[in-house]
Amino acid sequence: MKLPFAESYKIKVVEPLYKSTRQDREQWLKEARYNIFNLRSHQVFIDLLTDSGTGAMSQFQWAEIMKGDESYAGAESYFKLKEAIKDIFGFEYFLPTHQGRAAENVLFSALVKEGDVVPGNAHFDTTKGHIEFRKAEAVDCTIDEAYDTDTNHPFKGNLDLDKLEAVYKKYPKEKIPFVVVTVTCNTSGGQPVSIENLKQVYELSHQYGIKVLFDSARFAENAYFIKLREKGYENKTIREIVADMFKYTDMMTMSSKKDAIVNMGGFIGMRDEEIFDKAKTFNIMFEGFITYGGMSGRDMAALAQGLYEGTEFDFLETRIKQTEYLGNQLIDYGIPIQKPIGGHAIFVDADKFLPNVPKAQYQAQTLTLELYLEAGVRAVEIGTILADRDPVTRENRYPKLEFMRMAIPRRVYTNNHMDVVATALKNVYDRRNKITTGYKIIKEAPIMRHFSVELEKI
Ligand SMILES: *Cc1c(COP(=O)(O)O)cnc(C)c1O
Repeated sequence: MKLPFAESYKIKVVEPLYKSTRQDREQWLKEARYNIFNLRSHQVFIDLLTDSGTGAMSQFQWAEIMKGDESYAGAESYFKLKEAIKDIFGFEYFLPTHQGRAAENVLFSALVKEGDVVPGNAHFDTTKGHIEFRKAEAVDCTIDEAYDTDTNHPFKGNLDLDKLEAVYKKYPKEKIPFVVVTVTCNTSGGQPVSIENLKQVYELSHQYGIKVLFDSARFAENAYFIKLREKGYENKTIREIVADMFKYTDMMTMSSKKDAIVNMGGFIGMRDEEIFDKAKTFNIMFEGFITYGGMSGRDMAALAQGLYEGTEFDFLETRIKQTEYLGNQLIDYGIPIQKPIGGHAIFVDADKFLPNVPKAQYQAQTLTLELYLEAGVRAVEIGTILADRDPVTRENRYPKLEFMRMAIPRRVYTNNHMDVVATALKNVYDRRNKITTGYKIIKEAPIMRHFSVELEKI
């Protein structure tokens, strides 16, 4: 008999979880003004809010914490990280930052100005935030297949070259500081970009004199999907594929809280000394001196180790198989999710799940709250609330896809937890026709409103 699959690690340290009653949860949600970001962690049984900074570090990473060098300038931990980045991505220059959006803030301060246009594949929310904050425009050039959850395209993160070229033809190159390619593309469902597409985007962009930036939080998961799905890469190691991917970019921003399996950290990688020099000044102003940039020495050391662990096939296989394990149960229950199943999360199509709730009453948010009430499972809205208002008209922007995302933290939960999540969502699905009303906003911030929005039941 073929042996079943099992995790490539065992558990050394554990943390208790807290169960609650539906009555408790109703009270807590009311107090949280129906915003799951306002819940305390003890009020959550299984937390799938994000896979960002919520992973479990290995014994080797914890050992690196003890070895951290906290020198203000020239710390050994900085050089350890610098060498890992050179080794894995091939970048000569790098700047540490405290997390991914800080990397965006520093790099975009150097490169993006008012009136600029930044094309990309469904920009991540903080990326878009940093573009729009500078009064520049983010233009989505993702392939159309990404917006049909039932189409089984292997690389739904790909950019549409015609859409991209149209942007390059419409605007002078001085107005386009770079194209941002997100690997994997979170916003369209944790979907990968193929090497073929990365190469074509790079060649097209360079033909027009435009630089390429990889938003790289889940670069290793992208490489795993390339190994499984793209012809010619079956027998390459993850690190060889990563090296191939990063041939086709000029710079990277990284949220190390994802595929580098640390709880905090980020960086910018660059080939160009001129960009490094420009960005350096902003790094010192916003983050810290260039050899720590908002990170402790120990955190840089654990991050360097995490970059190696995060690019091991066994680790990635364990992780992505767990996401599939949950996703396949939901597919069996007939629950509408983005297909194929992505790397880090399951994206539930809330528009199909709750067709009786009007769009203006926030379907994905309604579903997220129902799932929490059902079993204390915390997911997150990736829909109209997140899409925010149009910066000019101030009208709600209705995204093409209204998702509830359930992100799986790395090396944290067991498949028994996934069973609870699947059953809880099935229970909500079974009573979906009775859910006919959603929520209205009573208070919101002018930008990135989802973190602090306050809602009222209709
Ligand atoms: C998480 C993430 C960011 C932002 O990183 P933070 O560490 O949360 O600031 C940017 N882009 C992508 C694709 C991400 O997943």
